[in-house]
Amino acid sequence: MQWRSESIKTVRGAGDLRIGAERLARASRVRRQIEGELEALEACARALLRAEPMLRGSVYETRGKCGKRACRCRTGEGHPMTYVTWRTASGRKTRSVTPETHAAFAKPAEAYRRFREGRTEWTRRSKAVASLLGGLEDALALEVAPDRVEGNGRR
Ligand SMILES: [Zn+2]
Repeated sequence: MQWRSESIKTVRGAGDLRIGAERLARASRVRRQIEGELEALEACARALLRAEPMLRGSVYETRGKCGKRACRCRTGEGHPMTYVTWRTASGRKTRSVTPETHAAFAKPAEAYRRFREGRTEWTRRSKAVASLLGGLEDALALEVAPDRVEGNGRR
């Protein structure tokens, strides 16, 4: 873009620093995007803060053999069985879950799944904000007029 002649008469003063209307409009768009992300981030953080004790694992169903010699599961597809698998400091553990204890395991496992989802969202949106801040910096970067004063910068 062309500099107006009056903006290049001197190397000092506001006339030598400028920013186009298009860039200011872009800065406004980026600001609105950041504000949207911040609102979503706050909602995300509030949900994470409401977290209750959770089970770092999941409950799953499979089919298994009961071990009784006469049972038809020996040749068939097996009985439906429920297990819980969870993470400990020493590794992953698994145990069976009875219908009576199913809810006791499933509820905190579900809380864990939601917490992990929330953390993933938090990370994704935080990165988006960091990237948008880069965009804001670009949009707001002033252009500096070239040095046109005779003798300056030519020694
Ligand atoms: Zn069986």
